[in-house]
Amino acid sequence: MNAASQGKRTITAIPGDGIGPEVMHATQRILEAAGAPVVFETAEAGANAFRKGIATGAPRETLDSIATNGIVLKGPLETPVGFGEKSANVTLRKHFELYANIRPVRELPGIRTPFTGRGIDLVIVRENVEDVYAGIEHMQTPDVAQCLKLMTAPGCERIIRAAFAVAVAEGRKAVTCATKANIMKLTEGMMKRVFERVGPDYPAIAQDHIIIDNCAHQLVLAPERFDVIVTSNMNGDIISDLAAGLVGGLGIAPSANLGDRVAMFEAVHGSAPQIAGKGLANPTALLSAAVMLLRHIGAFAVAETIEQALFITLAEGRNLTGDLSPRGHGVGTAAFTEQVIQNLGRTSNAASRAYSALSLTPWPDATAHTEPATRELVGLDVFVESDATAAALGAALEAVCADTAFRLAGISNRGVQVHPPTGGYTFLVDHFACRFLLRAPTDGDATDAIADLLARVAARYRWMHIEKLQRFDGVEAFERAQGEG
Ligand code: NAP
Repeated sequence: MNAASQGKRTITAIPGDGIGPEVMHATQRILEAAGAPVVFETAEAGANAFRKGIATGAPRETLDSIATNGIVLKGPLETPVGFGEKSANVTLRKHFELYANIRPVRELPGIRTPFTGRGIDLVIVRENVEDVYAGIEHMQTPDVAQCLKLMTAPGCERIIRAAFAVAVAEGRKAVTCATKANIMKLTEGMMKRVFERVGPDYPAIAQDHIIIDNCAHQLVLAPERFDVIVTSNMNGDIISDLAAGLVGGLGIAPSANLGDRVAMFEAVHGSAPQIAGKGLANPTALLSAAVMLLRHIGAFAVAETIEQALFITLAEGRNLTGDLSPRGHGVGTAAFTEQVIQNLGRTSNAASRAYSALSLTPWPDATAHTEPATRELVGLDVFVESDATAAALGAALEAVCADTAFRLAGISNRGVQVHPPTGGYTFLVDHFACRFLLRAPTDGDATDAIADLLARVAARYRWMHIEKLQRFDGVEAFERAQGEG
């Protein structure tokens, strides 16, 4: 009989590196003892794959297994220095567009922290594939590095809808959107604007926006005030580790990486090479990730049975691994696992949440595109490498464009206007953004005028990058430099 005919779901299990195989074995034993409706198909990724010369760290058979099964339980993967450069984790997240990183942060019974008793029980929903983590980087001059922070309206909308879906599934009351919209008005501001547009679709859930740095501050001062936090990739990376620290650290933190076709569940911790192979690792994080997996596939009762067995094991404090015990009193992975198994069927004082199925909005396969009603080209930023002073560059470029379709509006250096001078002091590097405005904005693309301007600039200066200045539906689609009028 195959798994489906037995009412079981086939899960791709990637034991991974270091302590991965140990915590995977422990987790699988507990799931089996609890009668979880799953069978595992083991697949390889990480260090071994790199050693075999697979540059992505994720062999084809593994990708095929994931594509077929759609659900993954994954141990930590190393990116060994010297075998390859790509992170196998990032490969898996990007390959399957696992855009939603869900990280629950909850006080666990028996785990004492400075925040114990505060009632921390929140979920961080982190956008997982966009933002500066797209890894689009260029050296613009030998001294100046650039990383493109790409955020998209569909990317913001799907992570925000995922956050509301998590709130609904977990019976939560509030979603907070945390951004740096006050500084990055177009990228981070897009997430805030989409949150405000999408939010009214979820009238039963309270909603607010918070600046991300204040969010970090509030997470330490009053973590119990948060319910669901949705945020962009880098913000989420940082505050989810911070939040894990509030309840006992990365060693016990689980996470889910969700996409439309695949869901991958893992511990937040890495391969802990110092304790690998010694039978000492704590499987709590991967076990908690497996509990998330079981809820994801609708196996709510068995998920709760396992969660309660874990809670009571932690609360009673017998047979805990070394990381959770006073020095010299810890047991190994196997004894902890047996203790959890013995506790299956018991109920702790810490109630599990009442979960219902998570309903994610599927995204169309078509390339996302919005056509504005009007589109105007108003100018061009030409990025020039030069060791000239701002005044000298300004005078030269004014002459360069004198009889072209453009006029020089200003020059900025690392985002600060330096020509015409504003009276401020700016340390200059050899990377000037020279803003040329069209004397007559156009609804065409002005390719000939741009080529003419670029040829004239290039006759005197090295340019490395251009950026069109546009207006969509009459609204400027670019930011002004600090000090620019
Ligand atoms: P780490 O593997 O999380 O380990 C840091 C320390 O945390 C360990 O040395 C150990 O402390 C403790 N620890 C972590 N998990 C534990 C567990 N389950 N039980 C008991 N103690 C645990 O972090 P790292 O050393 O920075 O990273 C090692 C490798 O893992 C790197 O190659 C990194 O790229 C990779 N990594 C992978 C993932 C992933 O696959 N998602 C995530 C993070 C890191 P003691 O030494 O005090 O015992």
